[in-house]
Amino acid sequence: MNIEPIKDWLPVAKKKPIVVSGPCSAESREQVIETCLAIAATEKVSVLRAGIWKPRTRPNSFEGVGEVGLKWLKEASEMTGLPSVVEVANRQHIELALDQGIDMFWIGARTTVNPFSVQEIADALHGVDIPVFVKNPINPDLQLWIGALERLNNAGITKIAAIHRGFSGFDQTVYRNAPKWNFPIELKRQFPTLPVICDPSHIGGNRELLSIISQKALDLDMDGLMIECHISPDEALSDSKQQITPFRLNEILSDLIVRDKTIKNVKLKTKLEKLRLEIDAIDQEILEMLTARFRVINEIGEEKRINAITILQVERWNQILSTRNDLAEKLGLGKEFVSTLLETIHKESIAIQTGIMNEKKVETTS
Ligand code: PEP
Ligand code: MN
Repeated sequence: MNIEPIKDWLPVAKKKPIVVSGPCSAESREQVIETCLAIAATEKVSVLRAGIWKPRTRPNSFEGVGEVGLKWLKEASEMTGLPSVVEVANRQHIELALDQGIDMFWIGARTTVNPFSVQEIADALHGVDIPVFVKNPINPDLQLWIGALERLNNAGITKIAAIHRGFSGFDQTVYRNAPKWNFPIELKRQFPTLPVICDPSHIGGNRELLSIISQKALDLDMDGLMIECHISPDEALSDSKQQITPFRLNEILSDLIVRDKTIKNVKLKTKLEKLRLEIDAIDQEILEMLTARFRVINEIGEEKRINAITILQVERWNQILSTRNDLAEKLGLGKEFVSTLLETIHKESIAIQTGIMNEKKVETTS
């Protein structure tokens, strides 16, 4: 992907995260202007947001004020000198927002899931030089997220960034949308110059979780934050539980610890290098031990095949789980971590044995 460095198109203070803030939805002129003026007064925010057309989960909810909201946000942008960003989901949204002089766009999670919609947006943006932020799709599919970024990039959008807003799931968790941090981390690994902005409002779904998620995002070297903010959050027409006042926004942003990306202290650098060498050696040992374990599994699989015994032996599996969990507890390892690790190893062991059975079956039938 051809990505322009964010510092070239979004001037932000050194060592500070990029912060996008504003209401979930534009509701009235007063609400947008009052909220945005108070946000700008914090001097910690780089871009003003407002939802104009709202993709709601259930019908008969507030679906946004539409076109008129663009004017209110534009007015707030002119009053504060901060650029504006809105969510667009189709060609008409883009045309209306461009007409009103909106500065940037974001693509919502419910749109990123649909390649037809993303392509329509990319086609509508052909030849337009505007920054676009792409939220992750609601389902945890990294390829779909990358695909949307690529469609826009292929249409000539080079001022591009990703927004991590978490993933929807059936299981109840403390989060509204599970963060699954490995997704933004992998995205950064594959595209090191792509800015990634975390949206703790939609991940958390409530005010209490905002600080902790924001700090975690910065500690994981995310480039910025998108936080929903409302002059009177309890009265908000959408996402009221997760919106905060501009006063609270200022508090949260002030309390964040921004750590150094690069290690300048030579003594610390040498110490970390030594510790990392230790980690390298330990990882090598872990992989060698796993290879040894799977070699034994191969032998067991062969015996089971010759003697026509089922691969899964539930009693043995229960015995493994309980003895290893006891050992893990004694060693001070996390219970959940050890269970997940054992399940992964067991899955691979079963796959190896299934391979042995099938391989020999092919040999005898051919
Ligand atoms: C929003 O930012 O208000 C929004 C609708 O977000 P998402 O697409 O992440 O649900
Ligand atoms: Mn919202």
